[in-house]
Parts: sequence; structure tokens; C-alpha cells
Amino acid sequence: VLIVLLGPPGAGKGTQSQLLAQSLGVPKVATGDIFREAIARETPLGVQAKPYLDRGELVPGPITTEMVKSRLQREDCRKGAILDGYPRTVEQARQFDAVLRDIHRGLSKVINIDVPDDELLRRLSGRWTCRKCQSTFHEIFKPSKNVGACDRCGGTLYQRPDDSIEVAQTRLRVYRTRTEPVIAYYQEQGVLVHVDGQQTPDSVLSDILSRVQVVAPS
Ligand SMILES: [Zn+2]
Repeated sequence: VLIVLLGPPGAGKGTQSQLLAQSLGVPKVATGDIFREAIARETPLGVQAKPYLDRGELVPGPITTEMVKSRLQREDCRKGAILDGYPRTVEQARQFDAVLRDIHRGLSKVINIDVPDDELLRRLSGRWTCRKCQSTFHEIFKPSKNVGACDRCGGTLYQRPDDSIEVAQTRLRVYRTRTEPVIAYYQEQGVLVHVDGQQTPDSVLSDILSRVQVVAPS
């Protein structure tokens, strides 16, 4: 099984890739982890990628693709992998196709986790942090007992700039422009599956599993 997980920020991609990896017994391959490891081990690609990450910029597609390629060729990916955060652009999707031909692998499915924008904004922007002890709360998913006050220490809650509605809107906009064409790209290849992301994590997982699992003959 080789699965690509797509979905906007806040759709629960991180959680699902973790759960899927566990259920299918294959590793989760996330570009963020690959970058961190390559940089820590000072591999040639890690050395190339580091300045971009240090500046907070996107690592160029070819470097990212090479890293994903060598990651997929490692022993633990022999039975497959769950890709999270890659490919992010149509350019990367094309490069990834070339890699797959190169290493004689094929995509099982591309899963797109659908969540409407208003729900994503609620999820992404409802987070509040305690000024004193840094505990975090969420307006909907984990509200504090007293509005504006920390449950643990009584400190004042504030919203980090990253958790503001404006930043959330920008992240969604960037995602829609850059990654939605990737969805169309895989749709054309006939490997795309849509899953409703407005369910509990367990239901989302079983939806995905029912769409990807090849039933082994008993
Ligand atoms: Zn606190």
C-alpha cells in the first residue's frame, strides 16, 4: 500500500496518517520529519534543505522529491507507506510520478479529507493559550471552565498570532491555490477518493480503510 493523504490545514491529516500507519503496519512518511532527520544527520540533501527551512521558506521541489525518494527506498517502506504533506504542488506530483516509475512502485490511492472552510476556520482559530503556564484550550473542543481564564493556574488566556482567524484564512488560501490543483491532478488519474472529514477521527479512519484496503483472501 502506498497512500497519499491530502487535506487542508485543520482537516486532521496528521492524526489520520498516524492512525492509518498503525492500522496498515507501514510507516508514516511526512516531509517535516524527513527534513528534520536529514538535517540532524547532515546528509547532502539535508545540508541543501537547511537554509530554506532556517529562513522559513519552502524547500524547492526537486530537493524534497529526492528526499522522499530515498526515504521510500528504505527497508521499512518495503510494504508501503503513508505520505503526509507531499506532494504539495502539481509540479511535485509530476516529479513524484517519475520517482514512482523509477523505483517501480505505484500509488494505491490518494485520499482527500474534505472539510468545509467555516469548520476549518473554527478548528484553526479557536485556540487560546495561558500567559502564565502556556496551557492551551480550544473554544469548541476543549473550552476552559471560566471564559478567558486558565483551568490549571487561573492565568489570563490570549490568542497567539498563529492561532488568529487572519492567519487561518491565509493558510487556507495558500492551500487552496497550491494544493487544490493536486487534487484535480489525481482525480484525472482515477486514484482519488474523497472522505468526509467532519466525523470523529475513528469514523474517518474506518471510511479511509474501507476505501483502500485490499481484502486478502482468507
Ligand atoms: Zn495557566
